[in-house]
Amino acid sequence: MAVVQRKAAAPNGAGMARLRVLLPLPLAGAYDYRVPQGMPVPPVGSFVAVPLGNRGSIGVVWDGEADPGLPERKLKDIEGVFEVPPMTESLRRFVEWVAAYTLSPPGAVLRMAMSAPAALEPPAAKAGWRLSAAGQRARRGEGARLTESRRRVLDVMEPGEVYAPAALAAEAGVSPGVVRGMADAGLLESALLPPGERFPVPDLQRPGPELGPEQAEAAAALREAAAVRHFGVTLLTGVTGSGKTEVYLEAVAECLRQGRQALVLLPEIALSTQWLERFERRFGVPPALWHSELGSRRRRDTWRAVAEDKVPVLVGARSALFLPFPDLGLIVVDEEHETAFKQEEGVVYNARDMAVVRARLAGASCVLVSATPSLETLTNAETGRYAALHLPVRHGGAALPEVAIIDQRRTPPERGRFLSPPLVQAVRDTLAEGQQAMLFLNRRGYAPLTLCRACGHRMRCPNCTAWLVEHRVQRRLQCHHCGHAEPIPETCPECGAEASLTPLGPGVERVQDEAADLFPEARMLVMASDTIPGPAAAAEAARAIAAREVDLIIGTQIVAKGWHFPHLTLVGVVDADLGLAGGDLRAAERTVQLLHQVAGRAGRAEAPGRVLLQSWNPEHPVMQALVSDDLEGFMAAEAEQRRPGHWPPFGRLAALIVSAEDEREADRAARDLGLAAPQGEGMEVLGPAPAPLALLRGRHRRRLLLKTRRDVAVQPILREWLGRVAVPASVKVQVDVDPVGF
Ligand code: ADP
Ligand code: ZN
Repeated sequence: MAVVQRKAAAPNGAGMARLRVLLPLPLAGAYDYRVPQGMPVPPVGSFVAVPLGNRGSIGVVWDGEADPGLPERKLKDIEGVFEVPPMTESLRRFVEWVAAYTLSPPGAVLRMAMSAPAALEPPAAKAGWRLSAAGQRARRGEGARLTESRRRVLDVMEPGEVYAPAALAAEAGVSPGVVRGMADAGLLESALLPPGERFPVPDLQRPGPELGPEQAEAAAALREAAAVRHFGVTLLTGVTGSGKTEVYLEAVAECLRQGRQALVLLPEIALSTQWLERFERRFGVPPALWHSELGSRRRRDTWRAVAEDKVPVLVGARSALFLPFPDLGLIVVDEEHETAFKQEEGVVYNARDMAVVRARLAGASCVLVSATPSLETLTNAETGRYAALHLPVRHGGAALPEVAIIDQRRTPPERGRFLSPPLVQAVRDTLAEGQQAMLFLNRRGYAPLTLCRACGHRMRCPNCTAWLVEHRVQRRLQCHHCGHAEPIPETCPECGAEASLTPLGPGVERVQDEAADLFPEARMLVMASDTIPGPAAAAEAARAIAAREVDLIIGTQIVAKGWHFPHLTLVGVVDADLGLAGGDLRAAERTVQLLHQVAGRAGRAEAPGRVLLQSWNPEHPVMQALVSDDLEGFMAAEAEQRRPGHWPPFGRLAALIVSAEDEREADRAARDLGLAAPQGEGMEVLGPAPAPLALLRGRHRRRLLLKTRRDVAVQPILREWLGRVAVPASVKVQVDVDPVGF
């Protein structure tokens, strides 16, 4: 283990220093440990190795006094201190804050801030290549003539420097085999790379793009906010394509000039290749990355480099908030309205809201960015808690797309079809003009429901309250909640009828089938999580679309986010009503946001864009808001609906999800919690009722909702409530403060 100090020979224990150590485990709080004789007392925040039970653990020296009353024999010694900069005070306060807000044990939150324990070890030196004496002579042009690719490798190498093999091949633009061959020929010799390489440093001298007048004004305000070096939140809004990214990159530049670190949170980092390219154009280097698909080696190296102040700017998913930045100066949350920022498992938190807290504790500037901000954020801007900046026009003068509704009642699709005649005609016209079109349907697979025509049986998931979704490509029925999958049966499992199972309703695969039939010449690309699983596929899709190798894009919600497709002029929404069903408080708000984002993909360059919404409900305020492009009016009306009943953001909400494998146990625990519900001025408990997914992964779920006025703090009420009710160990009660889907 990489410890600097080890305990000295067996001390007798009397009068030794005691410390509190928080362990990254779901325990109540910090444990007391003793500093053995001969070990300097590690400062607060130090990462330490400690015994726990009969194994070891790693923890962080926490603030506060150890309990002097604890008998000496109950205390164990700290075993060593890691050679990593101590966790900063602002991150320690953040861990505590998140724990208190979400009612999670601090250790469970600390775990998110520690990544892999191996990150605490100094990185092992890795093997690399260096020019040998023969290589240096060859580089000077002495000796035998070289092949062109070998020449290129020698050209990028400086004598004495050590190069990572893959990076060397990439930089020289040759295959790794060329490099190996040069080593075999004695031109290169192996050497160890210096550990802890710095992440690339952005070039701040590089000029950004010339900003339009509104952009320049907004960028100046954000630079100013970053330069004052204290906390503040700014909402940056603007129509799709108005160039918000270029504007906040100026704030990033200012933060780096201040010598502080910048963090940008994106909702779908693995698919954000276009964003990364743009960052690289601006700063000459790629940013450091943090997301769940990062390999464990990369994860460790990145965590450690952040702790050692070697990462000036990082782009990440929500968990990047817990990285140990020494002096965080700026947090940008792009697409702040996205539900992807909500973590629903383990510690349940919304990274958009926690970013504001992290910024406050770090004395940093926070920028929330969206073309369609959440009502929460809009309300904070209106009351003046957040500053607000707005970009009213598209960059380069492109017009916003024209939005129209296709009334499904008047021009319905043919039986068994999903594209109505006017939409088919519009796609045809667009393709004939040599432009690109997109069909949007927020549903993966072929059909959302499979039904027996003989007996009416519906294929459902054995573990969840959910229908199985047919995926024709894999020839399977899948549950989108638990991952259960089974082959499509030949006969109905209920009545045994043969060939009676029929798909009902469309998914993107079915729309693709229909489109292939209607537009046989069109080159199609389906963009859904199964066809675009990661960065490589996303980059390839973006390339093919930009190169006009695709005529028709058919996609789920992954096409809504951030893409810039300059040749796309028509967007057809196959089922605009899809998100409106169900009792979710934010169903209308979310549908407007999603459809507006999708619409914003059209007409981003010279040719104007057009958006067609297929709807059975054209009078719905959501449809009207999209047609008249009056999101502001829509959000104002939405606010007036929520205000009187104290619904968020005008009141507070917390959910208790009670779950158990045994349905009666879940019911009993939920009923007990309901009977013990808190009562008082300005609060109300709704339920128990079946949770939105009443069965999930084999667990029966019930829900209680605590709704309070805005000035009531829900955490103490929840704590007291949960403390009064004992539930069996087989029952799980999950607390979700500020739930998003209900
Ligand atoms: P938004 O995020 O507001 O939808 P983007 O930041 O994606 O808009 O900008 C839309 C397109 O315009 C992008 O391709 C971007 O590179 C380009 N762009 C924005 N501002 C400028 C500028 N000042 N100069 C050149 N190109 C710009
Ligand atoms: Zn399931």
